[in-house]
Amino acid sequence: MHDAIVVGGGPNGLAAAIVLARAGVPALLLEAADTVGGGTRTRELTLPGFRHDVCSAIHPMALVSPFLKTLPLNLTWVESPYAIAHPLDDGTAAVVEQSLDATTRRLGRDDARAWRRLMQPFVDRADVLFPEILGPVPLVPRHPFLLARFGLLGLRSATALMRRFKFDAARALFGGCAAHAIIPPNFAGSASFGIAMAVSAHAVGWPCARGGSESIARAMADYFISLGGTIKTGRRVTSMRDLPPSRAVIFDVTPRQLAAIAGDALPPRYVRKLQRFRYGPGVFKIDWALDGPIPWRAKECAGALTVHVGGRVEDIAEHESAIWNGRTTRKPFVLVAQQSLFDPTRAPAGKHTGWAYCHVPNGSNEDMTEAIEGQIERFAPGFRDRIVARRTMNAAQFEAYDANVVGGDIGGGANTLLQFVTRPFPSLDPYATPNRRIYIGSSSTPPGGGVHGMCGYHAAQSALKHSF
Ligand SMILES: Cc1cc2nc3c(=O)[nH]c(=O)nc-3n(C[C@H](O)[C@H](O)[C@H](O)COP(=O)(O)OP(=O)(O)OC[C@H]3O[C@@H](n4cnc5c(N)ncnc54)[C@H](O)[C@@H]3O)c2cc1C
Repeated sequence: MHDAIVVGGGPNGLAAAIVLARAGVPALLLEAADTVGGGTRTRELTLPGFRHDVCSAIHPMALVSPFLKTLPLNLTWVESPYAIAHPLDDGTAAVVEQSLDATTRRLGRDDARAWRRLMQPFVDRADVLFPEILGPVPLVPRHPFLLARFGLLGLRSATALMRRFKFDAARALFGGCAAHAIIPPNFAGSASFGIAMAVSAHAVGWPCARGGSESIARAMADYFISLGGTIKTGRRVTSMRDLPPSRAVIFDVTPRQLAAIAGDALPPRYVRKLQRFRYGPGVFKIDWALDGPIPWRAKECAGALTVHVGGRVEDIAEHESAIWNGRTTRKPFVLVAQQSLFDPTRAPAGKHTGWAYCHVPNGSNEDMTEAIEGQIERFAPGFRDRIVARRTMNAAQFEAYDANVVGGDIGGGANTLLQFVTRPFPSLDPYATPNRRIYIGSSSTPPGGGVHGMCGYHAAQSALKHSF
C-alpha cells in the first residue's frame, strides 16, 4: 500500500510527487519510458557527442514558476546575451534583451514607447504576475488590478494588440512570442501568450539548462528520492488494475488517456467530457549536428539561445492560420534553439547542435525538412553546408515517443480561449475528478504547456486537500 501514486514522470508528474513527499506522503511514481523526464530529456539523436533536447529546450517558465524556484535543485541555468532574436529579410534582426531599456533602444521612438507601455507594468511586477497566471483563474486574485490589466490586454488577439506597433521589428518580436500559443494570431486570447512570453524574457531571460533539459528531470527526480519517494520506470499504466492500492493517484496524462485508463472508475458524464477535450496542432522537429555555428546574416542572432525564424508577422500569421485549418505552407514559422553556442557540453569542441521545429496540423506525417531548412537558409545563407547529420521527428513519432504529445500537440491541448483558461473543461477544481482517488495534473490542466511543474503542483495540492 502506497499512500499516493503518480502516473507519468514528466515535469508535472515529478512536481506532483515532490509536493506529496514534502507534505509527508512519499509517493510511488510510475513512468512508461526507461527514464523519467517526459518533455525534458536529452539524447545523442544524431552523432556521438552531440546532445540534443528531444522536446523542450528553453526554460523561462521554469524560472518564473513559483513552485520550481522554491526547490533546492542541483541545476545550472545558461543564459545568452539576447533572450530572443528575430531576423528580418533586410538583414537586420530584432532582439528582446532582458533589459527593457536595451530592448526599446533598438525599436525606434514610437515603438519603443509602445513596447514599454505594454510590458513595463508586468515586468516590474513579474514576481507577483506569474504566481497569479500560472494556475487556475483565481476566484479571489491577490493582485486584482494587475490581473485585470493582464486579462483585458491578454484576452485580445495578438493581431489587435500588434496594431500599437508601427514597424516590423516590434511587430515581429511580439508576433513571434504570441505564436507560442499555437493558435491563429487573430484568435481571442492569443495576445496573452505574446505578453507572458515577452515579460518572461525581460524578467528572467530565456535560458537553457546546462547539460540539456534532462538535467531538470534528473534534478527533480533526485530531490524526490531524497525526500523518500520511489520511482519505477518501464511501467506503462493501461488500467486502474495495474496500480497497487493507494489513497490517491495523480495522473500526468492527457484527458483522452485518463478516459482510457480510468474510465471504468469515473462517471460516464465525466468520461464523455474528457473524450471531448480538443487537442491542438502538432509539431515537426529537426535536430542537427553542425560543423560550425549557424551562419546568420544578422550578427545579433548568434547572441541568442532562441531565434524566431519566419520574417514578417504577416508571414507567421499565414502559416499559423493554415495549420489550424489542416494545411501547411512552404514558409513555416520556425523556432530555433542553438544551445551549443552557450553550453559547451552539447557538442564536441568546434562543433554545434541545432534544434528547430515548426507547427503542423495535428497528427500530420508531412516531412517539413525542406521547408524548415529553407527558412533558416533564407536568414543564414550557407546553413545547409554546415549540416553533418540530422534527425527528424514528425507529429506521429512524437506521440509514439511520449503518449502525452497527442498527435504531436506539445501544449497538452488546444489553447482556444475557453479551453486554455478552464482546461480540461470548466470546473471549480480542474485537477479533481468525481472519484476522490483520481486526479489529473498534466499540461492539459491549468496553466497549460511548458516546463513549470505548476499543473502537477496544483493537482497534488488538490489531492492533499481531498484525499488525506
Ligand atoms: C518538441 C517540443 C518542444 C518543446 N519546447 C519547449 C520549450 O522549449 N520550453 C518549454 O517550457 N516547454 C516546451 N515544450 C513543452 C513541454 O515539454 C511540456 O509542456 C511539458 O513537458 C509537459 O509536462 P507534463 O509533465 O505535463 O508531460 P510530459 O512531459 O509529456 O510527461 C508525461 C510523462 O508521462 C509518461 N506517461 C504517459 N502516459 C503514461 C502511462 N500510461 N503510464 C506511465 N507513464 C506514462 C510519459 O512517458 C512521459 O514521460 C516542448 C514540447 C515538445 C514536444
